[in-house]
Amino acid sequence: MLKGLMRVCALAEIRFDITLKICQISIITMIWPMNIPVAMPRLCRKFIKCSLSIGSEYHTIYNMNTYKVAIERCDSYFPEELIPALKNAAKAADFPDISGKKVLLKPNIVFDGAPEKAITTHPDFLDAVIQIVLELGASRVFVGDSPGLQGPNFKARGCGFDVVIQKYEEEVEWVDFTKNKTEIKFPKGKVQQRFTVSSIINEVDLIINLPKLKTHQFMLFTGALKNTFGLVPSVSKSAFHVRYSSREAFASMLVDLNLAVRKPVFAFMDAIIGMEGPGPSGGTPREIGLVLASGNFLAMDHAACTIIGYPPEKIPTNSDALTRRYWLKDFSEIDYPLLRPEEVKIGDYVKIPLIKTGNKLLNKILPKFLRKRPPVPRINRDLCILCTDCFKICASEAMMIVGDGKSKHMQVNSKNCIYCYCCHEICPAKAIEV
Ligand code: SF4
Ligand code: SF4
Repeated sequence: MLKGLMRVCALAEIRFDITLKICQISIITMIWPMNIPVAMPRLCRKFIKCSLSIGSEYHTIYNMNTYKVAIERCDSYFPEELIPALKNAAKAADFPDISGKKVLLKPNIVFDGAPEKAITTHPDFLDAVIQIVLELGASRVFVGDSPGLQGPNFKARGCGFDVVIQKYEEEVEWVDFTKNKTEIKFPKGKVQQRFTVSSIINEVDLIINLPKLKTHQFMLFTGALKNTFGLVPSVSKSAFHVRYSSREAFASMLVDLNLAVRKPVFAFMDAIIGMEGPGPSGGTPREIGLVLASGNFLAMDHAACTIIGYPPEKIPTNSDALTRRYWLKDFSEIDYPLLRPEEVKIGDYVKIPLIKTGNKLLNKILPKFLRKRPPVPRINRDLCILCTDCFKICASEAMMIVGDGKSKHMQVNSKNCIYCYCCHEICPAKAIEV
């Protein structure tokens, strides 16, 4: 009986949605040729806007009802300072009840670099979060991420996670995202409707995202929304760079992915030492002295961008996520129970310039030499150690191995380059400049 009732409700919801879509299409078809939108009465415009937002299902995915971002000072990774700061932030940001629940901790590992390089979430930050979630009664803790070029039996030794996880023996387990995969669907995705991700997301009750505050050569900034991309196993991420080569399209894909995950989430951001300059791996560590906590990824990223001096609405992941009206309907809804981002703003944080990549239509019409394009990466042969990682990660076959013996070197074919900067991100020798 209950099942029957649920089926009727589901059918009614689908019909309601279809009716709204038909209404929207009819209104748009009626008004478009007459060019009425300019002169359209305010009431009419409001009706259309309202019907469009009802038609979108984003708000029904998971009850996103938190607008809080807790920003707390913390100058070191010493547990005496870090654990109280994280606890305070978690409490202020309404960290959920995890007693008896299984949680996945998802740090940021671009590649397995040493902690002092500030490429990855700091291992002591991971350790502190593990201690907190165990203290709060989590029944099982999984830790995992999948860098772009993940070797067999990857255990994140270089960035120090392996040692942290071993400390907890039975209670904490490393998950290899490349081993078991699952397909998640989001039919209303703006650009991408299905993703293959690690199946661990089906086994846990909560995903705790642990991003590192960094600049990002391609996406300008990387925070909570971008860090979710690590759920896509290893090198299969590269195909998305080919499919969504513009910053805006890639941002839409990332937002679709975040919406497709359909799991309760929370995030603690490691902003004690972040990265400035050509991030997410080739930049310079920068002391920020903060930890952030929130159940709302867009609100958290907005706060982090404000802290480092980016206009948050200019960051493509933020602007796209706002249009979905799932995390926030307006940035003014964000609530800061502790510090406000303006209070801790860093005036001289070195950022990736907000350069426009040119008008798409003009780029198609204009001859090649007049088109405005992002810079092609350059190889510094003095620094290159010929590891060929850039060759392996480049999905558009723009990176080439040229010559042999002593003359062997890497070269970029600018005709094939799609400016994804995965090569720059992955280079362990900082030999690729943009
Ligand atoms: S050369 Fe580098 S930036 Fe260009 S497409 Fe390949 S990985 Fe991307
Ligand atoms: S440029 Fe960097 S990633 Fe490419 S081969 Fe040289 S060291 Fe390796």
